[in-house]
Amino acid sequence: MWIDTHCHLDAAEFAGEHEAVADEARGLGVSRIVIPAIGRANFGTVAALAAACTNGSYALGIHPMFVPQTDEADLLLLRAAIPAALLDARFLAIGEIGLDFFIPALTLSPLREKQEHFYIEQLKIARDFDLPVLLHVRRSQDMLLKHLRRIRVRGGCAHAFNGSFQQALQFIELGFKLGLGGAMTFTRALQIRRLATELPLSALVLETDAPDLSPAWLHPMRNSPAQIPQIGAALAGLRNVPVETIAAATTANALVALPRLAALY
Ligand SMILES: [Zn+2]
Repeated sequence: MWIDTHCHLDAAEFAGEHEAVADEARGLGVSRIVIPAIGRANFGTVAALAAACTNGSYALGIHPMFVPQTDEADLLLLRAAIPAALLDARFLAIGEIGLDFFIPALTLSPLREKQEHFYIEQLKIARDFDLPVLLHVRRSQDMLLKHLRRIRVRGGCAHAFNGSFQQALQFIELGFKLGLGGAMTFTRALQIRRLATELPLSALVLETDAPDLSPAWLHPMRNSPAQIPQIGAALAGLRNVPVETIAAATTANALVALPRLAALY
């Protein structure tokens, strides 16, 4: 059994095939797919998609790359949407939220501060409703950590983690699991492969970030949640343990990071 802890199944790349893609993954043992939102425009879509797919579940949040198109009303709408969402067992977390300091325009004033504001306010929503968060981490590890130390949430997943070993340990200490996916399957990805090999197995979850971040054997074609078992096998190879060990551990870890998942089994 496997869990894809981060998959943009609502992306246009999957148009007309969402359920077939989810079913294909289910046939390969991917018992749960977590679909994060990117902003108010797709809150309804991810919830509906999670309901339409047997193995679907979702998160609600405003993605840092979409912060330029948002305003305060979006934060109010997100907060107001949570009580109803909590009645839906498929709703798991606040996400995808975080900071992106890779895209140049987002690192400059005033967007830099606006990103930070949206991140902080969404951490407060997660804290107030005792929900985990799905974090977008891109050249922003230390700033993300700074606010996580101040606004205590119940952990979650640091998605597509690509920081230092020391930073990884700090996220783990704050209750986070680190999401590993296609990037780990490239032999040149030395830093990520070191994290995959040396971090405690109890800290790792698997994800595809589909349709993006295809594994080496698929690149540059569209990624899909059906790749999770093979990505898990790659992690088993790196750690030199049986693939069943990886499946069991990463599934258990996802249930720790996203406790509402348990109600779906
Ligand atoms: Zn994402």
